[in-house]
Amino acid sequence: MPFFPEYEIKKQVMDLHMGDKVHYCYQCGRCDDVCPVTKLVGADRYSPRSLVMLGLLGLTHVLLVDTPKNQFALWGCQTCDLCDEICPNDIVLTDIFNILKNASIKQQLAPEAYQQQAKMVMETGYSVPLQDAIARRRDKMELPELPKADLTEIQKILKITNFDKKIGYEAPKEEN
Ligand code: SF4
Ligand code: SF4
Repeated sequence: MPFFPEYEIKKQVMDLHMGDKVHYCYQCGRCDDVCPVTKLVGADRYSPRSLVMLGLLGLTHVLLVDTPKNQFALWGCQTCDLCDEICPNDIVLTDIFNILKNASIKQQLAPEAYQQQAKMVMETGYSVPLQDAIARRRDKMELPELPKADLTEIQKILKITNFDKKIGYEAPKEEN
């Protein structure tokens, strides 16, 4: 199936990329060289250099629809910022990844685990709710109780910012 450029995403990446001075990726691959995820899984599964190239070309479908086969393709980044530091052209790669990830969320093509985590925030106020076992361990270690999330306030913010719509969240039906 042929892929056509996503012009809106391409424009967002280009706007960010160029900014007030020209920062152009010449595909030197230094970002791949330093990336710990690339080192671990191999450049065929995760490559910041390729992400920048596909973003600039607007060929994001390649990444987005590939997610079920290779969840690292777009979502492998651990935001360690090494690539941002090393890039000879001062490209902030992680900002480009955010544009691509936002597009992936918008099209509901993000890996299931991320979508579930986003739903967890909607329902509990935490991306990883505190487990009873951890609470007991903290207690044993005489650590203070963790502050409780203000769920009403969090849900209000998430609704105002349309977070619920962006992740396709449906509130659980209330039982009669
Ligand atoms: S280090 Fe910078 S210029 Fe080199 S490939 Fe990566 S993004 Fe492009
Ligand atoms: S910020 Fe992401 S892509 Fe860049 S080096 Fe770290 S893990 Fe790799």
